[in-house]
Amino acid sequence: MKFNISYKSFIIELTLAALIAYLFSLFTNTFANWFIVTLILLLVWHNYSELHLLKLLNPKEEKNTKFSKLENLSPTIAYNKNKTRREKIKSLRLLSKLNRNIQSFSDSIIICSLEGDISWCNNSAQELFDFYWNKKAKKNVLNIIFYPEFKQYFQKENHKRPLVLLTHNQRYIEINLNEYDSETYLLLARDITQIIRLLNARQTFLSNMNHELRTPLTVLQGYLEFLEPEEGNEFQQKALQAMKEQSQRMSNLLQQLTLLAKIETSNNNEHHLVNMSELILSLQKNTALLNVYDQQIRFDIAPDLYVTGDENQLQSAVSNLIYNAIKHAGENAVIHISWQPYENGGRFCVSDNGIGIEEKHLPHLTERFYRVDESRSNQTGGSGLGLAIVKHALEQHNSYLQITSKVGEGSQFAFELKTTKPE
Ligand code: ADP
Repeated sequence: MKFNISYKSFIIELTLAALIAYLFSLFTNTFANWFIVTLILLLVWHNYSELHLLKLLNPKEEKNTKFSKLENLSPTIAYNKNKTRREKIKSLRLLSKLNRNIQSFSDSIIICSLEGDISWCNNSAQELFDFYWNKKAKKNVLNIIFYPEFKQYFQKENHKRPLVLLTHNQRYIEINLNEYDSETYLLLARDITQIIRLLNARQTFLSNMNHELRTPLTVLQGYLEFLEPEEGNEFQQKALQAMKEQSQRMSNLLQQLTLLAKIETSNNNEHHLVNMSELILSLQKNTALLNVYDQQIRFDIAPDLYVTGDENQLQSAVSNLIYNAIKHAGENAVIHISWQPYENGGRFCVSDNGIGIEEKHLPHLTERFYRVDESRSNQTGGSGLGLAIVKHALEQHNSYLQITSKVGEGSQFAFELKTTKPE
């Protein structure tokens, strides 16, 4: 607190004290004695008014606060000291509470230098990587997580994607390394064995189911092909047509489920240079064949824009978006497909002026088996897996699907990808 001492009032007070001392000294005792007495009285009065002022400013202050002898000279100093002390205790309490909370995190946290020297870690990290740490024992994270994959990951410059480590005791650990500041790493790790096992079980189940269903389905489809629709009455012809359509639908569904599971569990080892412009243009002739609703389909593709990725996954993403527009936009719609340079990459966009989608459906469109209008989708043969495939394929390329739509005005499905220059 800054004090603004008014020298003028100080001199007036001193003169007044001297005057009073002089008046009293005329009757009895010496001037010096009286002057000391008046000065003491002045000090007491100042002290009292200071205390009174502080009480007025902070009525809730504790009354019985104990001050040291020196602090007794000025209540303001004592008040400030006391306040700082209380704030310090409060912050320390908060810090220790925070520390306790972080210690009980199920995720493992290690804070280390860029060279790997650990400066702090929680109990969960010590349990997960089986080591003991205290402030005095200097430990390096590379000696604790001693796997060569981790060393490679740690020394990499880019840690955007987490590392999934398979340990000697057959556990999968997901490790995320984040740059805390220019000198520190924050390492977050968690055991994802259960999730990986579940994913593997789902993948095995899907491939078994696919295998077991494919054979009887092929037999059924084969026999259906032999049956002539012209033979039999109207009911039999209708039944035959429905059976053919449904078996085809089942076959597509199986294909899409397998593709989705494959994309979900893929890693970017298969990423290579892909000419996106050519990939999109190669789909152009198929769109002409599929166009049964008298739609205008326009392609606006910048030539030779390359990306690094998985060609099959990118083709699935692009084709699903184009075929969706053809299937769902409605009759006479104008569909515009573009792939153009955008910021420091490329932007793929399929827009149409078709029926559009209600806003409440938009956040759910990429969920598995989500369809806006069940009866319409049954007509178009949709499974509700198309946009889920697009979402997962884009996630594998560090991108995401942007959807905007308005009922009666049309829809826009777009994504951006980082482009690469071929060497
Ligand atoms: P589906 O196999 O039914 O096409 P998707 O996951 O590809 O499944 O799409 C989900 C739903 O999104 C579709 O059922 C459809 O109702 C809606 N949809 C997708 N694209 C469009 C579009 N361009 N215009 C209108 N609705 C669309």
